[in-house]
Amino acid sequence: MLRYDLHCHSTHSDGLLAPGEVVRRAAARGVDVLALTDHDEVAGLAEAQEAARGTSLTLVHGSELSVSWNALTIHVVALRIDTANEKLAAGLAAIRSGRETRGQRIAQALAAAGIHGAWEGALRYVTNERLVSRTHFARFLVEAGHARDVKDVFSRYLTPGLPGYVRHDWATLPDAIGWIHAAGGSAVLAHPGRYKVTPGELTQLITDFRDAGGDALEVLSPSHTAAQVDQFAALTRVHGLRGSMGSDYHGPGESFLDLGDLPPLPAGVTPVWTTW
Ligand code: AMP
Ligand code: MN
Ligand code: MN
Ligand code: MN
Repeated sequence: MLRYDLHCHSTHSDGLLAPGEVVRRAAARGVDVLALTDHDEVAGLAEAQEAARGTSLTLVHGSELSVSWNALTIHVVALRIDTANEKLAAGLAAIRSGRETRGQRIAQALAAAGIHGAWEGALRYVTNERLVSRTHFARFLVEAGHARDVKDVFSRYLTPGLPGYVRHDWATLPDAIGWIHAAGGSAVLAHPGRYKVTPGELTQLITDFRDAGGDALEVLSPSHTAAQVDQFAALTRVHGLRGSMGSDYHGPGESFLDLGDLPPLPAGVTPVWTTW
């Protein structure tokens, strides 16, 4: 059976390894099919593809799109996209365009909470000027001694109700899925267990996702407990969706799972790749 990992990041968004390093690490760890899914960005895929040429690994061209749904931020993973597609490229550019201003507002919000120099501090960690992310602020906040590690940052700062949180409008769900389909890709609702929603809102989110043409739920994710894996496996069947899996790897020391560190999809889930 092939080993799939369909969600990870490189220095083209908030990962710590360059695309080629991600691919070589995945290949060395026995991954057969890897999707590089940088946030709102596809620029790392050329280097990743070049690195994959020298290995037995098959690279899937992907991205993880930031979406606003009912005032919440959710993520939609795009798989097997044609990165030259103009609709998708324009959509990704639109999502990215608000990130710099948002980052400056995050820095202002942190300054109001007594933490100064966060913009310059975060920029020291930014590896793609088009992609300033909360993760870069988190790395600065760890360095400045405000939290133990990146995960700890998000329980103290940068999330709703906490210092440094800034509301932001990303793409709409129908737009994001439309761009992914225009580019020939599959749309996967990323880590559905991670969103702070009521059970009723979760049902609504999955229904809206499916009604907008969404293809799959990310059943296996480091964000999920064993009970959530069972829950989302069942929900793929209830909603007629397929299932996906990904480590969401960001780099050594920062991720719960390493590349390829996932069990097979639970029995009864139709994999997103069955039609590939
Ligand atoms: P952004 O797209 O700028 O809002 O940043 C979102 C990124 O922050 C996610 O992709 C994760 O890498 C990171 N992140 C968000 N919440 C957490 C958390 N609780 N623990 C660790 N990383 C997180
Ligand atoms: Mn990330
Ligand atoms: Mn995500
Ligand atoms: Mn991710």
